[in-house]
Amino acid sequence: MTINFSPEHTDPSASLDFIRNIIAEDLKANKNDGRVHTRFPPEPNGYLHIGHAKSICLNFGIAAEHKGGLCNLRFDDTNPSKEDIKYVESIMKDVRWLGFDWGDRLFYASDYFDRLYQYAVQLIKKGKAYVCDLSPDEIREYRGTLTEPGRESPYRNRSAEENLDLFECMRSGEFEDGSRVLRAKIDMASPNLNMRDPVMYRILRAEHHRTGNKWCIYPMYDFTHCLSDSIEGITHSICTMEFENNRPLYDWFLDQLEVDCHPRQIEFARLNLSHTILSKRKLLALVEGKLVSGWDDPRMPTIAGLRRRGYTPESIRNFCDRIGVAKRESVVDIALLEHYIREDLNRRAPRVMAVLRPLKVIIDNYPEEKVEEMDAENNPEDPGMGSRKVLFSKTLYIEQHDFRENPPKKFFRLSPGSEIRLKHAYYIKCTKVIKDEHTGEVIQLHCTYDPETRGGWSKDGRIVKGTSHWVSAAHSVKAEVRLYDHLFLRANPDDEKDRDFRTFLNPNSLETLTSCRVEPCLAETAPGSFYQFLRQGYFCVDSVDSSPEKPVFNRTVSLRDSWAKIEKSRGTEAPYF
Ligand code: ATP
Ligand code: MG
Repeated sequence: MTINFSPEHTDPSASLDFIRNIIAEDLKANKNDGRVHTRFPPEPNGYLHIGHAKSICLNFGIAAEHKGGLCNLRFDDTNPSKEDIKYVESIMKDVRWLGFDWGDRLFYASDYFDRLYQYAVQLIKKGKAYVCDLSPDEIREYRGTLTEPGRESPYRNRSAEENLDLFECMRSGEFEDGSRVLRAKIDMASPNLNMRDPVMYRILRAEHHRTGNKWCIYPMYDFTHCLSDSIEGITHSICTMEFENNRPLYDWFLDQLEVDCHPRQIEFARLNLSHTILSKRKLLALVEGKLVSGWDDPRMPTIAGLRRRGYTPESIRNFCDRIGVAKRESVVDIALLEHYIREDLNRRAPRVMAVLRPLKVIIDNYPEEKVEEMDAENNPEDPGMGSRKVLFSKTLYIEQHDFRENPPKKFFRLSPGSEIRLKHAYYIKCTKVIKDEHTGEVIQLHCTYDPETRGGWSKDGRIVKGTSHWVSAAHSVKAEVRLYDHLFLRANPDDEKDRDFRTFLNPNSLETLTSCRVEPCLAETAPGSFYQFLRQGYFCVDSVDSSPEKPVFNRTVSLRDSWAKIEKSRGTEAPYF
């Protein structure tokens, strides 16, 4: 057995989570002939979100840690009315993008429909399943509650022959949708509601994205899921806590059918993330209600949304490693996710200058036609990334908020008479402020520069406290920049049971700036390319709307690292004052 330990873990046993511990014990006891075989089993009824990433990292991760370990990708596609091929495709793309490979182990529960039908017939023959004519409402009513036992269906004691015949007729399309179901015959008085004669098959005339119109009956998720795991030889069926109460049912099916492979189910707590929502059903409601631009809206917690926002697979995997697995439900602060993308991009993102809200600056004493090339390092964290030339000229743009006409105390940026450094360039001093006649808004500044401060350093040791980023007006291109904030105002938008989660949507989660100016090299870069805009944050080229003629950038995350503050750990990039 080989296990990949992260470098800070030197004591192997201390670094194992409870799932890996269980698997290690099973291996020690030589269960499953020493095999470790997991699977990631999505229902193709929506896009994957960051919660699924936790499950993917866990299942594929565990398989990779063991010699000969395998992990299947299996679509649990039992509900044709909610499923779609586009979801199948997006899920495969996202799992691959996260860095995992199922090789030739791609499966669909729908491939087992014939075998599942045979299993159902087997249960009927054993007197363990029956066709029930109660309506869905009646079935619900007969089921009882947590405090009251259920009542037995009047159809419960049909003979095996009659059940076989009726089930065959269900299959051949003789009955109306919803008029009959096949149920497991277990125990209507069980304290576990899942054991009160659960439905195994329903009649549903819906075209399936893989089996077409071959079937008009479909197996229920619970019946399908445990048997699909068994058919595939899964050794450890890892799932989230809400399936804990389904485990006795899964065990019952597998025991009654005397299958060769009886996977061991292990439940862990699902990931909850603050200021967002991790439920495909609710995310679908946002998409369908046009409250976001789509599944890949950069504000969405979907893998597609995070990718478009500028998250890297490494940052998501590191986040999943860090949160670990446990049985207890908790809400992870979204600042932790942001911390991991900052950490990754701090190492990898080239630094560039971009002015988001431009204010024109004329350097009065700079020659009209002169253009200078200023040396700019691409990433101070990584000298190997080299440097580039940034062009400086008489007319520049700086950030509006880097100037105040009436500066408050400790405002070290530009103001009338004050001197600041332009990053990589010169010291400048503000000599005159031009305002709009009508609005009184500052529209242009006149400055002088000190030719003795080339590169941004004064030879006489004169110190300035403020450093601003800038671009040359003639040597920059216009760009659109999209600034994102939390999708929800509330840390837990699901908390208030009598208020719809949508009422907590953040109305300011997207701010679009259309007159930004960026270094010209940025317009030419590929979709998804990422940068640090000096002093502002990490940005990436939007993969959908950006073009060289009209570049569009998404803010992945700002520089402020609230997580680092929370942890009072080492600082990340200090902003330039
Ligand atoms: P949702 O609740 O978002 O609709 P789901 O559980 O219905 O998700 P599936 O497609 O069935 O979605 O999920 C595939 C796998 O991902 C399952 O094993 C499920 O337990 C796991 N999973 C889903 N959501 C989370 C989460 N938030 N954290 C960890 N694992 C999750
Ligand atoms: Mg599910």
